[in-house]
Amino acid sequence: MTAVTAESLAWQGQAACRYDPDLFFSEGDPAAPAVAAQIERAKQVCAGCPVRRACLEWAMARNEKEGIWGGLDEGERQRARRLRMRRRREYAA
Ligand code: SF4
Repeated sequence: MTAVTAESLAWQGQAACRYDPDLFFSEGDPAAPAVAAQIERAKQVCAGCPVRRACLEWAMARNEKEGIWGGLDEGERQRARRLRMRRRREYAA
C-alpha cells in the first residue's frame, strides 16, 4: 500500500459525495427497500463523479470493507478484487 500524502488525497477535493458522505454508508440489510434505495442513490451520485476511478482504486488498494466507493458496493468490490487476482495469476502463468 502506498503512503497517504496530501497528493494522494487530492482527488477527494473533487468528490461528488463530499457534501453528503453518510449517503454512502448505509446500515442494515441491503435487501431492505429503504437500504437498497439508499445504495442506489449513492451509486447514481458516483456515476457522475469526476474522480470515480481514483476513488475506486483508493478503496481497492485499502481493501475498504464498508460503503460505496467508486460506484461499487462491498460485494462488487470483492468480486472485482477476485477477478483482478485471477487475471494477474493468468497473466503471470
Ligand atoms: S466515486 Fe462516489 S464515493 Fe467515490 S468520490 Fe465519487 S461520489 Fe464519492
